[in-house]
Order: sequence, then C-alpha cells, then structure tokens
Amino acid sequence: MKYRIILLTLLLATTYCGSSDSEADTRPYVVATTGMVRDAAEQIGGDLFRIDGIMGPGVDPHLYRATPADIRRMERADLLLYNGLLLEGRLAEILDRIGSRSFAVASAIPDSLLMAPYEFGGNYDPHIWFDVSLWKYAVNAIADQLIALAPEHEEAIRLRNEAYQHDLDELHNYVTAQIASIPEERRVLITAHDAFGYFGRAYGMQVEGLQGISTASEYGLRDVRMMRDLIIERQIPAIFIETSISSRSIESLIAGTREKGFQVKIGGELYSDALGESGTETGTYTGMFRHNADQITSALK
Ligand SMILES: [Zn+2]
Repeated sequence: MKYRIILLTLLLATTYCGSSDSEADTRPYVVATTGMVRDAAEQIGGDLFRIDGIMGPGVDPHLYRATPADIRRMERADLLLYNGLLLEGRLAEILDRIGSRSFAVASAIPDSLLMAPYEFGGNYDPHIWFDVSLWKYAVNAIADQLIALAPEHEEAIRLRNEAYQHDLDELHNYVTAQIASIPEERRVLITAHDAFGYFGRAYGMQVEGLQGISTASEYGLRDVRMMRDLIIERQIPAIFIETSISSRSIESLIAGTREKGFQVKIGGELYSDALGESGTETGTYTGMFRHNADQITSALK
C-alpha cells in the first residue's frame, strides 16, 4: 500500500513536470523509440526541436513494453519517429493508434536493399542501422520529416543533415577499413542474437547469432552445438556479448567449446539494439559503431 502511494506520487510528479515543461517549451516535440533514431533526430534537429527518447541504454526494443509515461509522451508528440520493420514489436498497438503523426524510418530504405532472412519467416530484418549506407536513407528521411514539421527551419536542417551525411560517409569508410584488416578466415562474428546481418553484408563478415533475428525467439541446444563446431573448425578466437541481451547463451557456448578443448574468449561487449549512456562515446550512433568495429577488429585480428 505504502509502495502504491509512493508510485502514485511519483507518477503525479512526472506528469506535472512533463506538462509544465511542454508549456514553457514551444519547440515542436519529437519522440523517438530507439537510441539510434533519437540520436539521428538530435544530430539533424539540434536544439530546434524538443527531442525525447523512449528506450535508454541496455534496453531491448524487441521486448520493450511502453510505460504509462512513454504512452503519454508518444500521444503528445508532434512527430513520433520509430525504426519499423517490427523491431518495436510490442509497441505496435500504440504506433498504429497515432499513425498519422508517426513515421517508420525504415520505410525510407528501398525494399530491394533490405534482407529477408529465412529465419525471420519472410519478414525483413529490422537492424538497418548496422549498414551505414542504409542508415543514411533513414537519416535523410528524418531530415525531411523535421522540415515538414518546422518548414521555417528548412535551411538549418538541410545544412546539418549535409554535415552529418559527411560524418556517416567517414564512418562507413572507417568500418570498412577496420574489418578488412582482420585475416579473411577469421571474419566471423558470433553474437547472442542476429542483429548484425546487414553489418556482415556491408563489411564482409560471416555473421552467426544464437538467437535469431528477434530476441523473442529461443535458442536451442542444436544451435549451441552447431556454433561450437563452427568456432572450432574455423579457430575463431573470440565471440561477443551484447549490451541489450543476457550473456547467458554466449557463456553456455563458451563452456561447450571449452569442453571440446578449444578456448574461445569473450571479445567484448557490442552495442546491438541500444546505444550507450548519453554523454559517453557510445552514446551516439557514430561513436557506438566505431566502438563495435574496434572491439571486433582487436578481438579477431
Ligand atoms: Zn535485435
């Protein structure tokens, strides 16, 4: 009972802060689901908009359910940006409900460039941010959405977008060069779930995830055995855990490999479906991507 009262007080406090904030702040209000989408909006929109993110560091978007505070934010938003392609599987109902003010950034990518892996039952792989050349389409589309929302800032938004597109080109070249420096037979990326399909295609790595495209699916013993044999056959020195997913499956794979007399180590923690803490290097999309490329390269080289 006491707990409920505290919770209610907290809830009222946040509601109150929320409304006083929005009264004082007349900028258009943009809400983004994932950290990657929020960061893109911030890079391009800067302080011309009030921008809020729903999913913080370590949050798994496949499983995320909106809190009452999230729902209020989404309902209040002048523009709701989300990834789409079923990434935010459990937000489908609210995204539908506020359809006219919401935009799926993945819809900007031509279908012919999307991957529809067999394991995902004919649906497209939603992890589009892991090929920078695809993410550029999403970023351009976010710029268009922001311009439509605040046409008076068109020029500023276009300039910021141009500069950011240049940063993205640099990032793409950097990651390409890093991965190319790994000996070819070791360019195998093994992670907890299949977030890196586009990454593998764009930068030339074989990618294997224990858990499939969505973390909503379970991995089985058979998958662990297949992966173990692959590691031993190719003498893969390292496999990776992800910040938004339990490391349990990867640890059982390491144990299974050790039983067969081969030592594979954890190559570090990769950011897959969420960014790091804001204000740190991995709190931005480009910083997160560089961090992943550096981790992968140093562990497999
Ligand atoms: Zn994922």
